[in-house]
Amino acid sequence: ARFERIALITGANKGIGLEIARQLGQQEGVTVLLGARDEARGQEAANRLRAEGISAEFIRLDVINHQSIDQAAGFIEGKYGKLDILVNNAGIFLQEKEPSENDVATLLQVYDTNVFGVFRTTKAMLPLLRKSDNGRVVNLSSSLGSLTLNSDPGFELASFLVLGYNSSKTAVNALTVFFANELKNTRIKVNSADPGYCATDMTGHAGSRSPAQGAIAAVRLATLPPDGPTGVFYNEDGPVPW
Ligand code: NDP
Repeated sequence: ARFERIALITGANKGIGLEIARQLGQQEGVTVLLGARDEARGQEAANRLRAEGISAEFIRLDVINHQSIDQAAGFIEGKYGKLDILVNNAGIFLQEKEPSENDVATLLQVYDTNVFGVFRTTKAMLPLLRKSDNGRVVNLSSSLGSLTLNSDPGFELASFLVLGYNSSKTAVNALTVFFANELKNTRIKVNSADPGYCATDMTGHAGSRSPAQGAIAAVRLATLPPDGPTGVFYNEDGPVPW
């Protein structure tokens, strides 16, 4: 269809990513491509959304694997010729020792997925996003990445100690700002979303919010009108301090 919008969500087989895919797919004319590194899990999630009447398709995409990202971009190029929405949702949280006891291998592993994964995927998809009338990139960040909050003496002490994860989200916010600045004279907007503390596998289902609530900020930023902001960090209620 002429007005079909194509959305790619990474790490979409479960958790917040699956809910972002569902909520985007429920919108008129949106086809969602569910990026997942595992074929069985990705196909199952796409089947579930299709059973709900959503136009959904699994696409294999491992954000730490260059080849897999290039193949995904080639597939989207061939089938749709463009990409309207990219949601960089895939992320990991590892058990980390306090900063002075942490190790480079752990930091590299977290950054490879959470930071370089966003960089690789955005870079590979940009040519397709440039072919959209309304390109939107949304990066899943976290208030744990906020330097304003992390440097606030009143901020919960425990979160100071997760150097790799927290600073990976600070770096995601930097990617948001740098890409938004580079693209400010295009129709592409690049923003960070903070989902809040959600009950998913990542949090051992301890979060107070549902994955569906966690998806709301990202879905809003993914569907911003042409006069909407770029280079911002929002949760469901508005701006989050950088
Ligand atoms: P989950 O652990 O439930 O889901 C993470 C998703 O990312 C899974 O689909 C997982 O796939 C995928 N993933 C991990 N590594 C890769 C990879 N290399 N390539 C492709 N996909 C990958 O986490 P959430 O849904 O809770 O988190 C989603 C995003 O939201 C993350 O970026 C997270 O940091 C962020 N966030 C979450 C918060 C929360 O409270 N839950 C709070 C703030 C931010 P697989 O199933 O194969 O492992």
